[in-house]
Amino acid sequence: MDRKHSRSVNLNDGNLMPVLGFGTFAPDEIPKSKANEATKIAIDVGFRHIDAAYFYQNEEEVGQALRDKMADGTVKREDLFYTTKIWSTFLRPELVRQCLERSLKKLGLDYVDLCLIHEPIAMKPGEELVPKDANGKIILDVVDICDTWEALEKCKDLGLTKSIGVSNFNHKQLELILNKPGLKYKPVCNQVECHPYLNQSKLLEFCKSKDIVLVAYSALGSHRDPNWVSSDSPYLLEEPILKTIAKKHNRSPGQVALRYQLQRGVVVLAKSFNEKRIKENFEVFDFELTPEDMKVIDGLNRNFRYDSMSL
Ligand code: NAP
Repeated sequence: MDRKHSRSVNLNDGNLMPVLGFGTFAPDEIPKSKANEATKIAIDVGFRHIDAAYFYQNEEEVGQALRDKMADGTVKREDLFYTTKIWSTFLRPELVRQCLERSLKKLGLDYVDLCLIHEPIAMKPGEELVPKDANGKIILDVVDICDTWEALEKCKDLGLTKSIGVSNFNHKQLELILNKPGLKYKPVCNQVECHPYLNQSKLLEFCKSKDIVLVAYSALGSHRDPNWVSSDSPYLLEEPILKTIAKKHNRSPGQVALRYQLQRGVVVLAKSFNEKRIKENFEVFDFELTPEDMKVIDGLNRNFRYDSMSL
């Protein structure tokens, strides 16, 4: 299955993005080798869109998986859609290309398909991923996000990335980029937390009106990494309404949560490092939620955010 023939959406720069992506973030205590094994399984079951980031610190392992799957003939480079992200300590314009080149080196690739600004929050540059002061407070940096965007536009012109976009941007931050004098490329997407408890309906409407794809992360209720997610947050996949709808379609609550996003025109990411669940998450193209199901799931929205860091 090549990218043109898999289920993809047209981006505003003419490139295609598969509508279902494989997430590769895992909490620190998970061995990095798991990302390698899981990515290979994901490609074997049919995932062609791989979501990653400099911050996840596993791009060597993920890159090795991609290269192994290309070497054994499962996929060609042009069939894969690989996303990386510029981390917050690299948002000064002179550091953007360096971050992307570090990712490319780890990956062993000469370009990525998509490069995002990971978050519109700049942190003090340096080797520390999350620089903190003596009181444990994150040390921020002052950067004009429009300057970061111009540096990313240059990375696209250099061919280091095919497309460029943003992540964790709210409506106002998107407008800062869209209204930037001399804007060369619009963001192709905004990757944000999105699931039935936080369905982002307003942001989705805004993105659609600007031909920007909304990409949903934590669509299955998040990784619940205690560094980012409070332990008393609700378990999305235990939601009785999702369970009832899943039972009716003879599917799992996870499949319903993924299908929900696809039917509302959202590109959706699913992370699993478990073979059975990776397969299950890819089986979302052969059933359909009814308009009534969609309405009931819309009704679960309560603007609840798992990721306490994002805006
Ligand atoms: P997620 O996709 O919401 O859910 C992952 C959790 O659900 C994992 O604990 C996984 O455990 C479990 N799971 C997966 N499939 C399941 C199924 N069918 N049934 C039951 N449980 C299932 O995770 P996420 O990591 O928060 O988000 C996905 C991806 O989005 C990330 O990996 C990353 O690529 C991206 N992301 C981006 C940002 C950003 O700031 N841009 C932030 C967060 C995430 P097992 O592995 O044990 O299956």
